[in-house]
Amino acid sequence: MEFFTHPEFDNHEQVVLFSDKATGLRAIVAIHNTNLGPALGGCRMWNYASDEEALTDVLRLSRGMTYKAAITGLPLGGGKSVIIGDAKKDKTPQMMQAMGRMVEKLNGLYIVAEDVNTDDQDMVNIHRYTGHVVGLPVSGQGTAGGNPSPMTALGVFTGLKTAVKHRLGKNSVEGVRVAVQGLGNVGYSLCERLHEEGAILTVTDIDTGRIQKAVDQLDATAVGLDEIYDVDADVFAPCALGGIINDKTLARLKVSVVAGAANNQLETGRHGIALKEKNVLYAPDYVVNAGGLINVYYEYLARITKGVQGREEDAIRHIHSIRETLEEIFLRAQNENVCTAEAADRVAEKRFLFPENGQDKAA
Ligand code: NAD
Repeated sequence: MEFFTHPEFDNHEQVVLFSDKATGLRAIVAIHNTNLGPALGGCRMWNYASDEEALTDVLRLSRGMTYKAAITGLPLGGGKSVIIGDAKKDKTPQMMQAMGRMVEKLNGLYIVAEDVNTDDQDMVNIHRYTGHVVGLPVSGQGTAGGNPSPMTALGVFTGLKTAVKHRLGKNSVEGVRVAVQGLGNVGYSLCERLHEEGAILTVTDIDTGRIQKAVDQLDATAVGLDEIYDVDADVFAPCALGGIINDKTLARLKVSVVAGAANNQLETGRHGIALKEKNVLYAPDYVVNAGGLINVYYEYLARITKGVQGREEDAIRHIHSIRETLEEIFLRAQNENVCTAEAADRVAEKRFLFPENGQDKAA
């Protein structure tokens, strides 16, 4: 298997293999960049077909965390871990405790969090052996932490409104037509906020119960899974899957703005350019969906300062700053005649590649 020449390697600082015979733990921790601070990122458990597939996934995900932390102005680097195995069959409290012992050996260089197929109880098990973990049940009143999804939704709402203001000149989403793909933890919470401010919702999900709830409670109009791309709306908010901006869907989109929670919305970088050419304003996914990361950062801060810092209100204030970050990205995209995804990468790289002198790699 290739490491240094792996297509996703991108100058990772460290890639660490963990194994524990007694519990069957096999994990990879990828630490992409720690110029701005310790690498924070979720621990995903997945039944990868091969070690190669697991490595590719963890490298790609940890790099993304570096960009997300940097663009959000957090003193954090990017990292991620994957546990190889079937979460339903193979995961045990002992395995997660073994993961905690391994994370502890990294001495704070990597802070672990929940991700696909891991939850707050897994983090509690990890926490038995290391303090370098977030996503634990909330420790005190007013302290940041707990379920990150409502905070992610707040960030997406802030980002969506910023894009609407920039493109449509509206200070509110009242009367703005939003097509939402996915009514899960983040998508539904986003819909509630949009509805409260008077947006007109069209929704889809594979779960018909969630659709019915949105129709009943939020006056939403339901459409089929594939019809969401054809909706005559102002905004498309992808909150389910990655790769949904691709050659097939692009031609169908009638919206002026794309802003949603899903990770890796663009199938390739080329699709960011195609959105720009189609005059669709794209609010880059990792900028607008950073609310959950911001929330767990303040949870960590609360722990290490014993509650002196890390209030929930600080996390909320930071999430609201997604507005200024996006405005900077939109301006830069205009000035440099690049797509917004490229502009976001440039701003993030400027911060994490040259944290001391603020030099701009892209300039
Ligand atoms: P979730 O699993 O709670 O919700 C996803 C929803 O999408 C579910 O209701 C599911 O039924 C639906 N769905 C699945 N396939 C679909 C399809 N083909 N068409 C329409 N709907 C479909 O997940 P979530 O926590 O709400 O996260 C949503 C997205 O946001 C994911 O891409 C996730 O990676 C990303 N994200 C989430 C957070 C967070 O804090 N939860 C943070 C950052 C990014």
